[in-house]
Amino acid sequence: MICQKCGAKLENVITDFPFKIRDNSIVIIKGLPILQCQNCNEYLIEDPIMEKIDVILDRIDITAELEILNFVA
Ligand SMILES: [Zn+2]
Repeated sequence: MICQKCGAKLENVITDFPFKIRDNSIVIIKGLPILQCQNCNEYLIEDPIMEKIDVILDRIDITAELEILNFVA
């Protein structure tokens, strides 16, 4: 897979990734597999992963400003 911005190679990395789900609420998903550009820090989340994230974010009822979850594939 190649970076859409600069054409460099994307590498699979496991990272902790923040998602803003409301104005004041951020969910950090730990252990998320993403593709990250080694050149410009552009990243890509693959569709099957994104679908799981959607399910996770749908399911949580966040009342705190910050919630930290583990990604389970
Ligand atoms: Zn790039």
